[in-house]
Amino acid sequence: MSVAVNESSARATAIATQGLRKSYGEIEVLKGIDFTAREGEVVSILGASGSGKSTFLRCLNLLELPSAGSLDVFGERVRLKQGASDAHIADRKQVDRLRTQVAMVFQNFCLWSHMTVLENLMEAPVHVQGRKKAEVRDEALSILERVGLTHRADAYPAQLSGGQQQRAAIARALVMKPRVLLFDEPTSALDPELVGEVLKVMRDLATEGRTMLIVTHEMAFARDVSNRILFLDQGRIEAQGQPQQLFAGGVSERFDQFVRRFNESAAH
Ligand code: ADP
Ligand code: MG
Repeated sequence: MSVAVNESSARATAIATQGLRKSYGEIEVLKGIDFTAREGEVVSILGASGSGKSTFLRCLNLLELPSAGSLDVFGERVRLKQGASDAHIADRKQVDRLRTQVAMVFQNFCLWSHMTVLENLMEAPVHVQGRKKAEVRDEALSILERVGLTHRADAYPAQLSGGQQQRAAIARALVMKPRVLLFDEPTSALDPELVGEVLKVMRDLATEGRTMLIVTHEMAFARDVSNRILFLDQGRIEAQGQPQQLFAGGVSERFDQFVRRFNESAAH
């Protein structure tokens, strides 16, 4: 009997969690997440508000520390000390290193308002990664060209539209040369007419074979661009699979209900 080799299973594991839990005091927000993302995979994370999507992403780049379970980044287990009520970082250097590999793009851009776009891009590579200024500048300018912002390199964030700010934030993540990109509702703060320009940049990145985990409510985008959908419900993975399988319906009653509600609200 021959075994078909699934293309994605042949690739290296980028991120893996096992039994990942996160509590805030008495409230358990993530209730044991077993998840693997392979290199080059684009995974959209869907779920109702409060289901734990942001908390999950924030655990993956250690903005939050998991209360229990394991997290591996490119085969390296994150070393945490689990205390009675909270986790602590056991190896600060490891965490700093892994954080540069797993970049995050936020809903509200989080650009530094007192720096120009170019300065925003250069700040971390020069001051955190200790790279040469001239080299970083060249790279930053070529990334700005890719996201269509060359002409805004010397502008301050407040002088940009929301769509431009988010493209600058994506450029700022890229200049760190991360191996994984996390997006937390990157278009949710944008006026509807500006959503498309940001999704286009993200679509290009996905086509390049970047590893991307995207929390989004852009259902059509998730469906077209992702290799896989992860549906969270009350801190658990309720369903996951290829978009065409999941969106065909019948896999998870809760997912179907989520999509129905989404379509109803979009129709109004
Ligand atoms: P989502 O991104 O899916 O909307 P979140 O991960 O932001 O969900 O939140 C999941 C749950 O965790 C929510 O009930 C939220 O109130 C709670 N939560 C998130 N962050 C904190 C925090 N820092 N302290 C206490 N509760 C939190
Ligand atoms: Mg959220």
